Amino acid sequence: MNYILLGPPGAGKGTQAKKIVDKFGIVHLSTGHMFRKVTKSDDVISERVASGQLISDEIVVNMVKNRLLQEDAKKGFLLDGFPRTLTQVQALDVILEAENIKIDTVFFIDLDYKEVIKRTSGRRVCSCGASYNMFFIPPKEDSKCDFCKKELIQRNDDKEEVVKNRLNIYEAQTKPLIEYYRKKGTLIKIDGLKSESEVFNQISENIK
Ligand SMILES: [Zn+2]
Repeated sequence: MNYILLGPPGAGKGTQAKKIVDKFGIVHLSTGHMFRKVTKSDDVISERVASGQLISDEIVVNMVKNRLLQEDAKKGFLLDGFPRTLTQVQALDVILEAENIKIDTVFFIDLDYKEVIKRTSGRRVCSCGASYNMFFIPPKEDSKCDFCKKELIQRNDDKEEVVKNRLNIYEAQTKPLIEYYRKKGTLIKIDGLKSESEVFNQISENIK
């Protein structure tokens, strides 16, 4: 049971990944989580992440490889946030072949960029932990929290120009992977416009 989860930023990959690993008892191989762990112990990488520099393919591939070969990943894994470039795909293929590991399915959560922008740029949070979306679940009073009446804030990562920038990178670097896996016959496209539980059902049906 080895899977890859692909899709644009804001398509809900993180949420789905958590549900999948919980239900099927496989390991969540999230590069986001790995980075957070590494930045705590590695000053060089930590500095790069802090200053917004890209982490080289070599560093990412090695990090994933080390995690992938740990004992617990033998029962199955879900790759989330990796691979992101064709170079990473090739490196992953080399590792998988050497270790005789097969990817069963690549799930691609497809979501229109306009919808991605609505979902992310509409997001507002409150310091009390409540969250809103100005398009889908707006607060009762404009830009104030329903519970504590504090002013809602928009995270930097959710600002429209930041999201658009991430979408441009996704379009240029990650989109080609969809075609690669489609040709390989391992891709299953999931309609990301559906609700969270419908998306989860679509994915679950395809996990043996
Ligand atoms: Zn609040």
